Amino acid sequence: MRLIFLGPPGAGKGTQAEILAEKTGLPRIATGDIFRKALREQTPLGLEAKAYMDKGELVPDDIVTAIVRERILLPDCRHGFILDGFPRTLAQAQSLDALLDEEAMQIDAVIYIDVADEELIARATGRRVCRSCQMPYHITFSPPVKEGVCDACGGTLYQRDDDREETVQNRLNVYKSQTAPLVDYYAKKGILRQIDGSQPIDRVSLDILKVVGIAE
Ligand code: ADP
Ligand code: ADP
Ligand code: ZN
Repeated sequence: MRLIFLGPPGAGKGTQAEILAEKTGLPRIATGDIFRKALREQTPLGLEAKAYMDKGELVPDDIVTAIVRERILLPDCRHGFILDGFPRTLAQAQSLDALLDEEAMQIDAVIYIDVADEELIARATGRRVCRSCQMPYHITFSPPVKEGVCDACGGTLYQRDDDREETVQNRLNVYKSQTAPLVDYYAKKGILRQIDGSQPIDRVSLDILKVVGIAE
């Protein structure tokens, strides 16, 4: 199964993609996580991406596409994968289509998680992420059992630099102008599945499982 998680920043893509990855054993490919890891390791890629991420802008298409291409061609993606946060522009979607064509692969569904703007800002600004496994938490909506510590792996939680309110607002604008057109793009292909992301986390998960045919 090959899936794309699409939606504005803070919609719950990471949370839901991680839950589904755990249930299915499919690898989750999160471009934001790849850039943050590269930055922690101070690689040239990480340092270049940082300039864009700090402003809430998108990293250039050719950089992102090359990374995803390399990742999708690894053996663990043979039976499928979950893309989280990619594609984010029409050009990225077209590059992905070309790559999938070459490899005779297809996307089975695009899970589009829809949430109202006010809620998105509250979610992103209260988000905390595990430094070790990248699992997202929220200080009020989804707190860990022990403050500041990841339930899953015991890692330390931190706040992303780009989750400050001003940057979140810009990321929302960038989403609307550059990423939202993908909703139509995939709807026209007949593979878009819209999910009401304003529900509690476990309800959203259930809807996603139904859509991908794992739950009734
Ligand atoms: P995205 O990857 O789309 O940016 P995340 O999965 O990181 O979104 O979620 C953003 C924040 O909102 C996190 O703090 C997460 O714990 C919280 N969150 C995710 N889903 C829900 C939900 N259904 N209800 C309330 N809070 C949520
Ligand atoms: P969120 O979960 O809040 O939607 P991500 O972790 O997916 O955010 O992305 C964080 C930042 O990483 C983006 O604001 C952007 O700068 C960069 N980024 C991630 N994925 C892409 C992509 N597909 N294209 C361009 N930039 C990206
Ligand atoms: Zn963790």
